[in-house]
Amino acid sequence: MANFRPALIVVDLQEDFCPPNGSLAVTNGRDIAPLVNKLLASPFVIRIATKDWHPHDHVSFAANHQGKVPFEDLITIVNPYNEAETYESRLWPVHCVQGSPGAELIPELLTSQIDMVLEKGADPRIEVYSPFYDPFKSPRVYDSGIVKILREKQVTDVYVVGLAADYCVKNAAVDAAKEGFKTYLVEECTRAVDPSAWSECKKEIEISGAKVVSMDGPEVSRLMTAQ
Ligand SMILES: [Zn+2]
Repeated sequence: MANFRPALIVVDLQEDFCPPNGSLAVTNGRDIAPLVNKLLASPFVIRIATKDWHPHDHVSFAANHQGKVPFEDLITIVNPYNEAETYESRLWPVHCVQGSPGAELIPELLTSQIDMVLEKGADPRIEVYSPFYDPFKSPRVYDSGIVKILREKQVTDVYVVGLAADYCVKNAAVDAAKEGFKTYLVEECTRAVDPSAWSECKKEIEISGAKVVSMDGPEVSRLMTAQ
């Protein structure tokens, strides 16, 4: 067990991603809180929560693009420092505006057990799903510093939970695995925007080297017994 130094990342468990009032509510999103709290009670080296944290003029809001429809339309996002680099990204309803009630972590979450809160998505020009860095992987655009923090804590294993499974949680797990951490996405502690595509999405996550695991599986029971 000496080489087992687990970290927990709780992704975007915020009001706007939860029923009943969230502007981008993920079906049953709030229901994961009790199991996330159970994990938070385990002996992690560090527990990090992330928050989607957008300005009003954020590029991912359909309302900021004339005639565009949230959930359906895409927009081309350009690297502000290299316009040859672009990617297509989905448009959403206005959500998680900095300082708004929708951007709050849900009150069911045991925030007293969280060591650090990282904010992402503050640059109006860029969509950032991963709490690690922006899709261009340009430190000039966005780098949360999370890799440095995990390495300083000598973390070996990263557990990822939160919302939403098919966007920010997926990207967090994929980037953690790419950075060389043994990575586990705990399936009961997440919910997808599009549950019908979740099994396909799981395959993409596992290709990155991250594992989708269960609360009842050995990867989680190991946490409960580790010290
Ligand atoms: Zn967002």
